[in-house]
Amino acid sequence: MANKSDETRREIGVGLLGLGTVGSEVARVLIEDAEELAARVGAKLVLRGVAVRNLDAARGASAGLVDPALLTTEAAELVERDDVDVVVELIGGINPAKELIRQALRAGKSVVSANKALFAAHSAKLFEAAQKAKVDLFFEAAVAGAIPVIRPLRQSLAGDRVTTVAGIVNGTTNFILSAMDSEGDDYADVLRQAQELGYAEADPTADVGGHDAAAKTAILASIAFHTRVTASDVHVEGITEITAADVESAKQLGYTIKLLSLSERVVGEDGKERVSARVYPALVPRSHPLASVNGAYNAVVVEAVNAGRLMFYGQGAGGAPTASSVAGDLVAAARNVVLGRAVASESTYAKLPIASIGDVAARYFVRMRVDDRPGVLSSVASVFAKRDVSIATVLQKGVIEGGAEIIIITHSALGSALAETVREVEDLPAVVEVESVLRLEFEND
Ligand code: NAP
Repeated sequence: MANKSDETRREIGVGLLGLGTVGSEVARVLIEDAEELAARVGAKLVLRGVAVRNLDAARGASAGLVDPALLTTEAAELVERDDVDVVVELIGGINPAKELIRQALRAGKSVVSANKALFAAHSAKLFEAAQKAKVDLFFEAAVAGAIPVIRPLRQSLAGDRVTTVAGIVNGTTNFILSAMDSEGDDYADVLRQAQELGYAEADPTADVGGHDAAAKTAILASIAFHTRVTASDVHVEGITEITAADVESAKQLGYTIKLLSLSERVVGEDGKERVSARVYPALVPRSHPLASVNGAYNAVVVEAVNAGRLMFYGQGAGGAPTASSVAGDLVAAARNVVLGRAVASESTYAKLPIASIGDVAARYFVRMRVDDRPGVLSSVASVFAKRDVSIATVLQKGVIEGGAEIIIITHSALGSALAETVREVEDLPAVVEVESVLRLEFEND
């Protein structure tokens, strides 16, 4: 940690990297709430510099508040300055954020970040550097914006055994699926509305493809199960194939479709515990608490052996809500600087293996278009029986264009068995197309 005189210790220098949606709100909080924050930290938080890419860009919530003289395009210089104690990284993406954080840590600065992409892929090296320098590395805002979930998992539940973390952690996809459910519109139309309203990016791939949720899932699973889980360990399916017909059928059956982040301990056939981390759209019973999380809101449900079920709910994105989380981390890191300590970092002692999606059991919803003639249902059912995938319910919907529609709900089956069944069903001459295969979650809740 940088050696400071008592005089400068009465101030904690903050180097802010990024002054966009979140950064400008963090700057506003630092300036507007300076007195209260100082009382909580035990020293004044002083903004020493703000790194941006373009000195002339519009400055959102911080316009007119941040002294333009603080702006710099030299982020690498800012993170090493002697008068900076804590670096707040709000640039996003992997490069140059990764190198800037490592540089800050090596220089003995504590770091606060909201960067899910980075922490889902490169946390090991960052924690190593933080541990070596005996400084803090906090990233509460990387998952579910304003909602405190990392610290509760890391600290409040440190004496319990977490079994499941399930949630809705992407506001864009939740907005789209909620609107499809309430309006009955098709995916493409709702996506367009979401883009017009600013709930979806011009390039929505990271959100609708499930990748943003997968990064957050990796972070949650790592902390919950004391095992290093990266985004590439997470099985990902997005929402782009969900149709109005899927949503309507789910509704008729008493479900709503949600993009879920799921991570849990599973026991394999060898009796060994593994971590399963996955993101996919699933049918959720309308009575489940996650079914009523609508619009751009996020929620995370944690199950632990002694605590039972805990639910965290709130705004998962947006400048001010995310800045609340960042400011909380900043106060914690600054207090530790004042007290001359750093808290323990990554905990990966359990080193559980990752379960493959084929080994995870679920109930399935399979919707298919078939020829409208006798005997089709029995030929389909016999394929399911051959693969030991037990059928719970079959619904035949009236004649539709090009044949009839069948919906099959299975009992619990392994992902591998279901995938083989679907492949074989698709080859049946009477089956025109298997249109959707979705899982059902929280059936027993
Ligand atoms: P943003 O609006 O795009 O802002 C990014 C900022 O970084 C801009 O001020 C930009 O400068 C600056 N920047 C980009 N490249 C830079 C470089 N090479 N050197 C110095 N500055 C650079 O991003 P954001 O939405 O605030 O997101 C910031 C972080 O918060 C990301 O990790 C994101 O995943 C996370 N997060 C965001 C939200 C949210 O609701 N937005 C929610 C949770 C977490 P210019 O202004 O000059 O272009």
